Amino acid sequence: HAKGAGKNVFALFEKRMNEHASERVTLLTDLRQAVSQGEFVLHYQPKVDVLTGKVTSVEALVRWMHPRLGLLGPDRFIRLAEESGLIAELTEWVMATACRQAKSWQEDGHPPVRVAVNLSPFHFQRQDVKEAILAVLGATELDPALFEIEITEGALMQNDEYTCRVLGELREMGITVSVDDFGTGYSSLSYLHRFPINTLKIDRTFILNMMKSTEDQAIVTAIIAMAKSLNMQIVAEGVETVEQLEALKDQGCHEIQGFLISRPVNAEKVARFFTDEDRLRQDRRTGIPAGD
Ligand code: C2E
Ligand code: MG
Ligand code: MG
Ligand code: MG
Repeated sequence: HAKGAGKNVFALFEKRMNEHASERVTLLTDLRQAVSQGEFVLHYQPKVDVLTGKVTSVEALVRWMHPRLGLLGPDRFIRLAEESGLIAELTEWVMATACRQAKSWQEDGHPPVRVAVNLSPFHFQRQDVKEAILAVLGATELDPALFEIEITEGALMQNDEYTCRVLGELREMGITVSVDDFGTGYSSLSYLHRFPINTLKIDRTFILNMMKSTEDQAIVTAIIAMAKSLNMQIVAEGVETVEQLEALKDQGCHEIQGFLISRPVNAEKVARFFTDEDRLRQDRRTGIPAGD
């Protein structure tokens, strides 16, 4: 009867909670080890100029090569890394690996291309991120002009005086500052212009819905107009179709990133987008001229 059933449901719920908790503990133990042993790999996704087809920057996206669970995406472990304080060490690995890779592309004779890393708001607010960036640029001897950070809108809104100062210092060194997933937070125009920001990346959800929702289309239009009036560069993330690309181009969006151009791939594969030949191949699918 009802009472018994309720109890069973609760017991089941409790069991699930415990399973979930123990899964978390195991994953945390594994993550500690992964950070100390370097069980990670970076994939790279290009951002492309809509007019010339040139790669402007490549974003480094971390994956965990888990010994039992296989390749895990960041959504499975970044939060855990943030909550456990492992994020600083993980980010140092990401930055060092990305910078070494950018340096190595250059040494292989590729044209200079910027590498972008995602910075966690936890990390940005609580640790000396600027010192960590200086250290990695010093150690790898990468030109700061080839380094970019992506921070979310939420990170700007906490502790804004500190954020403004640190971002200003990074900008002065020649580092590019991008705001990731823009439109999902609550920044207003008047708020945004106070920050030394180079680029806004329009969140994927607006791009996903822009062809079928006039509201989303209007938001995209407004973000592009606003960013232009503030002299910011605009990147649309999550572009999957030629229709989206065409609409974005019409609106004056500068760059796109998404599966239409490439999924995140390994360093060797992404480098194929740096040459004219491969841009021409890409051209056949996207209609973006190869440029020059
Ligand atoms: P993000 O920085 O906004 O990165 C974009 C995410 O969207 C990536 O997922 C990418 O694979 C995916 N994506 C790109 N183009 C498309 C598309 O056309 N369609 C669809 N459906 N998806 C697309 P990923 O690699 O799973 O990364 C998820 C998030 O994890 C990132 O979002 C970023 O916030 C975070 N992340 C990744 N690497 C790092 C890192 O090294 N440090 C920190 N703190 N966070 C990271
Ligand atoms: Mg990003
Ligand atoms: Mg993003
Ligand atoms: Mg996103």
